[in-house]
Amino acid sequence: MNRIYNFSAGPGILPVSVLEEASQAVLEFQGSGMSILELSHRGKWYDPVHAEAQELLLSTLGLSASEYTVALMGGGASTQFALLPMNFLGDGETADYVDAGEWGAKAIAEARRVGRVHIAGSSKATNYDRLPEIIPSGEASYLHLTTNNTIEGTQVFTLPETQGAPLFADASSDIFGVDRDYSQLDLIYAGAQKNAGPAGVTFVILRKSLLAVAQKNLPPMFSYQVQCDKQSLYNTPPVFPIYVLGLTLKWIAAEGGVKAVAARNQQKAALIYDALDAAPSVFTPCVAVKEHRSWMNLTFKLATPELEKAFLTEAQALGMDGLPGHRNVGGLRASIYNAFPVEGCQALAALIQDFAARKG
Ligand code: PMP
Repeated sequence: MNRIYNFSAGPGILPVSVLEEASQAVLEFQGSGMSILELSHRGKWYDPVHAEAQELLLSTLGLSASEYTVALMGGGASTQFALLPMNFLGDGETADYVDAGEWGAKAIAEARRVGRVHIAGSSKATNYDRLPEIIPSGEASYLHLTTNNTIEGTQVFTLPETQGAPLFADASSDIFGVDRDYSQLDLIYAGAQKNAGPAGVTFVILRKSLLAVAQKNLPPMFSYQVQCDKQSLYNTPPVFPIYVLGLTLKWIAAEGGVKAVAARNQQKAALIYDALDAAPSVFTPCVAVKEHRSWMNLTFKLATPELEKAFLTEAQALGMDGLPGHRNVGGLRASIYNAFPVEGCQALAALIQDFAARKG
């Protein structure tokens, strides 16, 4: 296998051991005489895969199955932007939203279709270059934030006070990558395709007590109550992505769990940030201010478009791909999710140092 260093913002890199096991299962799943792609979602072969993925989601985050439940759904995190308010923002109620990035802004737009939104903090005026101060309304049905702003490259390390509102988080781009107290969150959702598996499954982990206040009479596919009552088997779930999610969660456990993966992520990010910070005449921040920058998506730019092009060409020649920044912000972005190897970060840091020495 000739693997490149894939800095893509998502779908992102998966561990090779996971890819190997998944490849085998595509040919034949555990002596069943069938491919994982051919298994019924109702039956003895798939049942344990489904249950195990749900259990592992909770245990990996240190959450108890007596307090939390899991919905495995399709539609990406973008669908959850709409489902959260449909389920939890009732008539005349207010939801608090933190406006700290383009993805959070999309979540806000969806909530506004359903009900009243209070912006509890915004960094829009400075192009989402930082995490804003959060001032909850004190009357919200929930407070929503994005734990890692994938496009801009900022990340939340301290969860906010909510003045009693349940705390809901879009953790699509840092799930399992940061060691935080996840029980401070009442609902966590993420598409799997960056840190936890392939595209196709989105998981929603929520406190069971929330179901009591969820809206009734929603279309069943949009209702967390139905998804949880039916153990996410109301309709055909994305079987293969759920299987690979389970494999990735087992890989995280084998690596030492979230604590160990998070410590490594911090070191990986530091390798690249240290190299960038040491060469300010060539490399400058693209969006994120230093105090709030992310371990997952590192945004930076070069002094001129010509230098940027030259840098990308050299990176490509060294087997590094996926570095151009998001089209809305430009510059460069190195996405170094959980499975991204330390060696890839060392390689990028070395190129940054070498490039700066030649062009600075
Ligand atoms: N939220 C965040 C923080 C994201 O990074 C993304 C995808 N890049 C989304 C939501 C949208 O996810 P999806 O494509 O799964 O709908």
